[in-house]
Amino acid sequence: MDDSNDNQNTIINQNKKKRGRPKTDIWDYFKEGPRNRGHCSAECNFCGWKQQVGQPIEMQGHIALNCLKVSPEVKSLFLEKVKNNGHLGYNKKN
Ligand SMILES: [Zn+2]
Repeated sequence: MDDSNDNQNTIINQNKKKRGRPKTDIWDYFKEGPRNRGHCSAECNFCGWKQQVGQPIEMQGHIALNCLKVSPEVKSLFLEKVKNNGHLGYNKKN
């Protein structure tokens, strides 16, 4: 049995996964819930954190700052986005 090939294919497929969705790729890390007044609720794929109305800015903030189960790779990806957005109180101290 040689499954190393299989593993490689899986990784390549994941990288190719972009299908030109109109939404930002934050939705790759969230599940869309039922629509609510024209907006989807969102649930974090990593920790199950939910937002009534999925707002990409806040979802990014969750991944970047609050999510405890996200991989460091994804976290730093969205940390950059959040910093660029400048929307969230990035330097906010608790
Ligand atoms: Zn989370």
